Parts: sequence; C-alpha cells; structure tokens
Amino acid sequence: MSTTLRGNWNYPTTIWAGPGRIAELADACARTGMKRPLIVTDEGLIGASMIRNALAAVKDSALFGAVRGNPALSHVEAGFRAYCAGGHDGVVAFGGGSALDTGKVVAFMSGQTRPLWDFEDIGDWWTRADPAGIAPVIAVPTTAGTGSEVGRAGVILNEETHQKKIIFHPQMMPRIVISDPELTVGLPPGVTAATGIDAFVHCFEAYCAPGFHPLADGIALEGMRIIHRFLPQAYADGKNIEARAQMLAAASMGATAFQKGLGGVHAIAHPVGSWFNTHHGLTNAVILPYVMIFNRRAIEDKADVISRVLDLPTRGFDGFLAWVLDMRRQLKIPHSLADIGVTVDKAAIIGREAAIDPSASGNPIPVDAAQLEHIFRAAVAGKLGAVDAAA
Ligand SMILES: [Zn+2]
Repeated sequence: MSTTLRGNWNYPTTIWAGPGRIAELADACARTGMKRPLIVTDEGLIGASMIRNALAAVKDSALFGAVRGNPALSHVEAGFRAYCAGGHDGVVAFGGGSALDTGKVVAFMSGQTRPLWDFEDIGDWWTRADPAGIAPVIAVPTTAGTGSEVGRAGVILNEETHQKKIIFHPQMMPRIVISDPELTVGLPPGVTAATGIDAFVHCFEAYCAPGFHPLADGIALEGMRIIHRFLPQAYADGKNIEARAQMLAAASMGATAFQKGLGGVHAIAHPVGSWFNTHHGLTNAVILPYVMIFNRRAIEDKADVISRVLDLPTRGFDGFLAWVLDMRRQLKIPHSLADIGVTVDKAAIIGREAAIDPSASGNPIPVDAAQLEHIFRAAVAGKLGAVDAAA
C-alpha cells in the first residue's frame, strides 16, 4: 500500500509525500543548502522521539521548542534570538500550524531590519522586506489541518492589541515539505477532528469565495471529497496510514486553494482565538454551520455541486448542511462556542475585528461588523435558527 501513497509533487512547492519520508530530512537540508538548521517545534513535541530523531539525523542542528498554540510576537522574538545565537542558516519548521507559522516567520525575519508588524499582509507591504534576508525553510507538518506547510504567510498574535496579524511574503513558501503520515498517527482523535475540519473549511470557504479562480476551485472540491471520505477513518483509527496520508494531502490542498480567499468562518475564528485562546480548527468547526446559514442565498448553487461531489444522500444546500451537522456530531465537535469557553461579553469587539480581518473580504456576501457580531452571538448561544440569512 505504501508505494501508492508515495509521490514527489512540484506545486505549490516541492512536496515529498509518503510514509517514512522523514528519513530524507538530512537530504532535504542538503538540497536547500542548510548546514546548521534551527528546528522549530511546539512545546508539546520537545521530548517526542520524532524530534530527537530529527536532531540526531541533521548534524549541527539545534532545537527551539518554546512555541505554544496561537503563537505571539514574543515566541517569534525568542526563536529569532535562538536563531542568531546558534549561527543558523535555515529553519526546519516541524509540528502543528503554530510551529510551522513561527518557524516560517523566524526564517523570514532572520535578515530583516524593520519590525515584524511592518510586514503585515496589507497592500504591498511585503515589498518592504529584503528578499536576500529570508532564510530557507523546510516544513514538516505533524497535523493535517492548517496547511501552513504550503502557505506564504504566518499568523502571529499581537499581544498588545489582541489581534492576529498575517505576515506575508511570497518567499515564505517552504522550499521543501516532508509530508509523512507516520508523523501524524499519534494525534489524539479530538485534534484529528479539529484540524481536519479546519482543512475542510479552507476548501469550503475558498470554493465559495467570489472571484475567478478555477484552479483553486478544482483543488478545493477534491480536497472536500477526500476529507469527507477519510476524516472519519482517521478519527476512528489514528493508525490508518492511508487515511492519514490522504488527510495530509487534503490539508495542503486547502491552503493551496485559499490563495483565492477565505470567508466569514475564519473572519470570526481569528478574533475568537485571539481573545479566548481557543484552538483554531475547533473554533472553525463550531462556527461553520452558522456562517453557512448566513450565506445560504449566495451559495445554494455551490452547495449543490459540493453535495454531488461528496455523493451525499440528499443533494443541495439542505443535504450539505445536514451532513456538516452530522459530521460534527460524529467527531464530537461541540455545537456552541459557549461549550468551548467563549462568552458574549466581547461580542462587539469580535464583530468589529472580524469585519476588518482579511478573511472577511472573501465571504460570498459582503458582511459588516453588526452582521458578524450577530453570527457570533448565535454561535455562542448554539442557536442555528437565530441566524438570519442575509437579507
Ligand atoms: Zn484555518
């Protein structure tokens, strides 16, 4: 079976996919010219055998493992200090989305002279960067969700303003991705579910975002088909290598597709994550159906296509929504934001910040702060019926 799950892909970057491919990490470092890489990982993975093996396999590498969920400027700065102190020449970003984003941003900042927030994804701010000062990155995802391994940005929390900022540069795209499903078999079911639905939401929001981008649409549809088929299997049996390999591919597909845009789910999930420190994928998984109902009149046709691609028993928007709700139940995703510790006292702020989140501009219906606050309140209360489809 493993030979069929193996492949070398060249878009959107070089991806070495297949069980056991982590054995090629030293080769990947040599190909990208890294002699002394800094391995950036999540604090929860510091003692893991996969990290010990990587340190042993790559001579002269060192570890930076102080990355937590929703990484902030302080994590990037600590990583940057470790990078400079060790005289490193590249980054192996090894872990979940937080480690990948932090590793990519540390490599990006390694040769810049301006402060991090000068490179927020606004207009052409990325052209302020000195491209010669961007160190190479090898990405090794250990979750199948964010797809940050094939993204050109990192999301970093500004602790002073409580806002998540997107740091973007085309050269932040990792040079090589090692997509090894054996690294994800230890993920607990809850993390498998949350990250897997994040990947689904990437595909779904990209597909529903307005704009002419058939390349992204095609990748998004196939990504959703794969997740529909394999996420329940990966959740039920974490050691199912085929399901894990398919989910890793689908996660990369989601992030590839969302170059087209995201939408209201991510626009709300970002400030919720900033204020309540909730897990990004889990937050999206809870919010998804509320935003779907709000967007209903704009996405009926697209929901029908999705329902046919997924071969759902009931076609159209209603069949698709029923499946989303059923999948959430099956994967034990809570139905309300209150269930994950979110309260309405910040509702006005969440609405305002969601409206200026870059994801909001990809929503199929233009949304303002009041509408986003309304959706957020319904999601906190767990009342799908409280969402008025946009007039
Ligand atoms: Zn996401």
